[in-house]
Amino acid sequence: MTTLLDTINNDPRRTAVLVEDATPVNNHEFRADYEARRKIFPSRVQGFYRQLKWILVAVLLGIYWFTPWIRWDRGPHAPDQAVLLDLAHRRFYFFAVEIWPQEFYYVAGLLIMAGLGLFLVTSIAGRAWCGYACPQTVWTDMFIQVERWIEGDRNARMKLDAAPWTFAKWRKRLTVWTLWIVISVATGGAWIFYFADAPTLARDMVTGQAAPVAYFTVLTLAATTFWLAGFMREQVCTYMCPWPRIQGAMLDENSLIVTYNDWRGEPRSRHSKKAIAKGLDVGDCVDCNACVAACPMGIDIRDGQQLECITCALCIDACDTVMDKVGRPLGLISYSTLVDFEHHTQTAKQQGRETATTEQKRVSFAHIARPRTILYFTLWAAIGLGMLVVLFTRGHLDVTVLHDRAPLFVTLSDGSVRNGYTLKLASKTLDERPLELSLEGVDDAVMWTPESETRSRQLAVMVPPDAVRDLRVFVSRPPGAEAVSFTFLVTDPESGEAVRSTARFETGSR
Ligand code: SF4
Ligand code: SF4
Repeated sequence: MTTLLDTINNDPRRTAVLVEDATPVNNHEFRADYEARRKIFPSRVQGFYRQLKWILVAVLLGIYWFTPWIRWDRGPHAPDQAVLLDLAHRRFYFFAVEIWPQEFYYVAGLLIMAGLGLFLVTSIAGRAWCGYACPQTVWTDMFIQVERWIEGDRNARMKLDAAPWTFAKWRKRLTVWTLWIVISVATGGAWIFYFADAPTLARDMVTGQAAPVAYFTVLTLAATTFWLAGFMREQVCTYMCPWPRIQGAMLDENSLIVTYNDWRGEPRSRHSKKAIAKGLDVGDCVDCNACVAACPMGIDIRDGQQLECITCALCIDACDTVMDKVGRPLGLISYSTLVDFEHHTQTAKQQGRETATTEQKRVSFAHIARPRTILYFTLWAAIGLGMLVVLFTRGHLDVTVLHDRAPLFVTLSDGSVRNGYTLKLASKTLDERPLELSLEGVDDAVMWTPESETRSRQLAVMVPPDAVRDLRVFVSRPPGAEAVSFTFLVTDPESGEAVRSTARFETGSR
């Protein structure tokens, strides 16, 4: 009985034909959703993109692992860690910048910029994020490299995987898993150092004095890293991550994607010299499967663009190595836009494969500046610039006034009316700060604090460094005063910085 899968697998659009004997070759059968996972053993490749990926892995991991250990002197009243999410004191330190909780819009702005940046990169270079910078890719790459060191390249790993559990197999697997655990613990361990003073926390972790939540976080992150990069691998990208679906909407005919140039590869031939001797028209693809063996997603790029492809470009390196060996121009698999691909296809049809191959550019930069990318970049730059302006022109003083609700006002024995307020004075400098508090808009009012009964129109207030001081203030006006709005003025006599907050003086009258 012919099943649906047979029908799909026999679809001529998915079946290459070798020119020599016209035998259908279908190495990479269409995978139905319910098919059990086939383990993937990517082979070692060498080339430009592989080198680039290793450099990026080193840079990204270097940033992740070493950033918490960079020191930044902020004086005696603030932590000296350059990048610190100080949740206990509700501060975020990033080198010279300090973000307070009420300034969370900076974080929101950064997230929007990250989103727009991702859109921009995707519309220019496809899934570059997935292929080069996504943590799942970076850690999976490292874990596969560990496997290669211990178990060998693709064929050796496949053989070992199929072999029974002998002592030698246990020894190799346990060595691999141990190294994975070391990397996983280092991954989880680095994360927590962003939330506390790194040297102190490291010492506390080793001596068993750190908070339980620190150990729990490290264990959770280590376990998920071990499981996702060690065992789940390409399934995370294919089934768990929503990004492959979203990115489909961002790619257009001008986006660079990893492309098998079938206009020069087909018809593929394993024995091209024999085929050429027979006078057959053969393409550059020698059907060696090196591109498939190198693919960490286990797909055949010659079947066209697929959701699983993370644009890691390892198939480009693998194929370039083969092209080099057979003496053909590099770039049978290359980064290409759909526009360029169609142009080369037409050229190949009209002027022959050799002409199209000669004029083929490996990477086209001609379509980077187009309305969509210009819009993304403009929005991204405008938000970034706006945030920088706000960041470097923001004040270091803030005041918020809360009026007492119960009672709203009190009539004193001499008939004058008193209102109570709580002022929240925020000083964002790293030194203790003497400030002056005064009243505007009520000429007949005086004020005082519970600590000092001396009535005055101006009070001297000391605010601790990098802190908010709650200040209770009473304001009174003579008998018969009407309700009125007025202003608390807070001034730093040293710097001249001043902030105001409007309040209401209630008397019971309308
Ligand atoms: S097809 Fe090529 S670019 Fe796509 S995931 Fe596989 S190796 Fe990477
Ligand atoms: S590596 Fe290149 S030549 Fe070999 S099968 Fe893939 S596309 Fe064809």
